[in-house]
Amino acid sequence: MQNYDVIVLGAGINGCGVAENLARAGKQVLLLDKGGVGRGTSSKSSRLIHGGLRYLETGQIHLVHESLHDRQRLVQLYPDLVAYKRFFLPIYKSSPRPGWMIRIGLWMYDLMSGSRSAGKSRTEDVEQFKARFSAFTSENLRSVLSYVDAKTHDQELCRRVADEFQQLGGTVIVHCDVESVVWDESGFQLSSSAGEFSAPILVNATGPWLDEVNEKYGLPAVYGIRKVSGIHLIFDGLVVPELMFMQTREKRIFFIIPEPENNQTLIGTTEREEDCLMGDLHAQEADIQYLLDQVNAYLKPDHQFHRKDVRDIYIGVRPLVRKKGDLSDVSREYKLDLHTKGKTQLLHIFGGKLTTYRSLAEKVVKVLGVRC
Ligand SMILES: Cc1cc2nc3c(=O)[nH]c(=O)nc-3n(C[C@H](O)[C@H](O)[C@H](O)COP(=O)(O)OP(=O)(O)OC[C@H]3O[C@@H](n4cnc5c(N)ncnc54)[C@H](O)[C@@H]3O)c2cc1C
Repeated sequence: MQNYDVIVLGAGINGCGVAENLARAGKQVLLLDKGGVGRGTSSKSSRLIHGGLRYLETGQIHLVHESLHDRQRLVQLYPDLVAYKRFFLPIYKSSPRPGWMIRIGLWMYDLMSGSRSAGKSRTEDVEQFKARFSAFTSENLRSVLSYVDAKTHDQELCRRVADEFQQLGGTVIVHCDVESVVWDESGFQLSSSAGEFSAPILVNATGPWLDEVNEKYGLPAVYGIRKVSGIHLIFDGLVVPELMFMQTREKRIFFIIPEPENNQTLIGTTEREEDCLMGDLHAQEADIQYLLDQVNAYLKPDHQFHRKDVRDIYIGVRPLVRKKGDLSDVSREYKLDLHTKGKTQLLHIFGGKLTTYRSLAEKVVKVLGVRC
């Protein structure tokens, strides 16, 4: 039996961030994953480190504030991995939100971001936009706004945090199948394909697998996961020169994300409530067609995408938190769910975006710090 102060289950961005913070606080930590580092949702995102402009509309001010704070920290910490980028936001006659409304949102976003280095939102010259974004239709184009957010590579970010954790003396074991978890007043005993491990603290950071993990190991939880999948389509080449924040007629949004380093363009994402097991998840043709239709609505006929142009598709599941028995109570905010038995502690991480992993990890250390 190998003994640790803390075992963290799940090496996605949240598990890696928590493990790194606990190691920094002087704890002996084991980070276990049944797959690889950052191979779950944390490699299936839109790759944005962002405040979440659209969360302003739903009044999730605290989330936007925390995300913008984390965005600034990440740009400073990992300048080679997280960089500010300008996002273009064209407004057409058919756009569901008028220009003035978006301008107010961007003004608030600038104010909340408070970072001088990020750059402010502005109104772009329409003629210049037409020349640079030549694949875009200019029919009924009213104005073009732009604002600044940040872009990363999600799985690389996870790997970087996991490397830092290991440099602090932490242990990472991947492709590890945990067969059983026994919890009593002396702590947790895990039996796995990589051996037997014990610790007085277990952190469950298995993202969208959380409910399945709790059921498998018989662990208690106050919340549940609402699984909302999202897909991205990958195309060869660069259809636009800069990142774009697009609106659909139904008031939903999607991003067009050029990646010059790979000479490819990402388009996403979608939202679909899933009730299958994570292992049975797959991208639906209806969602692929939806994204093609949405982007094509803005492209000139000779630049339109067809199903055969899709180079790759990836699907991820947002691990949104839901209070058990309450289907309507869903927000993008995360919840930390602590359970104790004697001096031992079980902490589940429900939710949590790529962007906010640092704030989340700091809170986890504080919550556990009561008994650390
Ligand atoms: C389509 C989409 C777009 C998104 N875009 C963005 C974005 O642009 N910006 C942003 O900030 N956020 C974004 N998000 C949200 C963000 O990606 C996720 O919230 C975040 O990656 C979740 O990280 P996690 O560590 O909690 O979970 P995960 O990354 O899923 O990690 C969980 C880990 O647990 C492991 N695991 C599962 N079962 C077990 C077990 N029994 N034992 C051991 N390990 C196990 C898995 O292998 C996995 O590695 C997006 C999400 C989606 C779905």
